[in-house]
Amino acid sequence: MHTFEFTRPGDPDAAIAAAAHAKTAQQGADVRFLAGGTTLLDLMKLNVETPDRLLDINRLPLDKVEATHDGGLKIGATVRNSDLAHHPAVQRDYAVLSQAILAGASTQLRNMATTAGNILQRTRCVYFRDTAMPCNKREPGSGCPAITGHNRTLAILGTSEHCIASNPSDMCVAMAALDATVHVRGPGGERAVPFGEFHLLPGDTPDRENVLEAGDLITHVTLPPPIAGSKQVYLKLRDRASYEFALASAAVVITVGGGNVTLARVALGGVGTKPWRSPEAEAALTGRPAARETFRSAADAALRGAKPRSGNAYKVELAKRCLAHALELATRA
Ligand SMILES: Cc1cc2nc3c(=O)[nH]c(=O)nc-3n(C[C@H](O)[C@H](O)[C@H](O)COP(=O)(O)OP(=O)(O)OC[C@H]3O[C@@H](n4cnc5c(N)ncnc54)[C@H](O)[C@@H]3O)c2cc1C
Ligand code: SF4
Repeated sequence: MHTFEFTRPGDPDAAIAAAAHAKTAQQGADVRFLAGGTTLLDLMKLNVETPDRLLDINRLPLDKVEATHDGGLKIGATVRNSDLAHHPAVQRDYAVLSQAILAGASTQLRNMATTAGNILQRTRCVYFRDTAMPCNKREPGSGCPAITGHNRTLAILGTSEHCIASNPSDMCVAMAALDATVHVRGPGGERAVPFGEFHLLPGDTPDRENVLEAGDLITHVTLPPPIAGSKQVYLKLRDRASYEFALASAAVVITVGGGNVTLARVALGGVGTKPWRSPEAEAALTGRPAARETFRSAADAALRGAKPRSGNAYKVELAKRCLAHALELATRA
């Protein structure tokens, strides 16, 4: 039986103290924060998540988008995805973030979904969502049927012999390219986690997806000041034009001077076990002519470590074309 509680308005510490009693912040947590509910309630209906206690955090004062002193942006944990995508500062200075959010889900879902909830959304691997099947992520040690089974939509980068689940978020791909920082408040105080260190590779503990511990509340995300003169593009390839997760996606932030790439930040979606920043692609771009050959070399570099399985080898070429085309669109814009 679940108990459902509203947190006291303005009092994150009470929510943190209550959640600190959970046995984990990862798969199997018996206390969960409830934000938009669009991931959590789905998984509870499927018995994949079975918390005893839900703490509704929607009345906490975490719903603002504000400028930071250094010229960056502070995004509260419960800011709705729609509000963030349409915020004037985001549209002006962080267009890739706006584009990525609007490429995801549906208008109704984006109106409910929150910043922190999006960061913590779970894989769409069909075995994870079906409790009749084994799954190392849901039930450690039970096996990974996806490796030889239905893996067409799953990851080719960052996989292990224990899990090949892809991270489904669009927003996170843009946040990875934008060098975001996740701010966490927990029983031990506050800490800031660089976006690239927040999600974990599956390794031999795919049930552990991020650095959160019991009681940790994401309070906000910060973005560094915008990069002057940068062009930004989020390109998402999927089975249908809307309301569908990425098979491959690319977030690109790039500056060009004198015909050469002077700065490049690149992240991929749909192909990684976590939002996939690619330093390899960035190195292959920086200082090189902003031309098709360079973009293709960068795409080759980004996918060099890919490990496709029985049903998803097509993703290697798809992701390369996605990134090369995103770079063309960005530098043409
Ligand atoms: C049909 C469908 C299609 C979708 N399509 C896409 C898509 O194309 N692209 C895409 O990117 N996403 C897609 N999504 C996923 C959607 O973006 C997420 O469900 C949503 O962002 C989750 O946010 P939420 O606020 O509803 O999270 P919730 O369901 O409320 O929470 C998710 C998890 O985060 C935890 N949590 C929430 N807030 C905090 C906090 N502040 N601190 C610590 N823990 C917290 C909760 O305890 C829970 O474990 C889709 C979802 C559905 C249902
Ligand atoms: S890929 Fe991961 S989530 Fe999917 S069945 Fe294997 S262990 Fe479970």
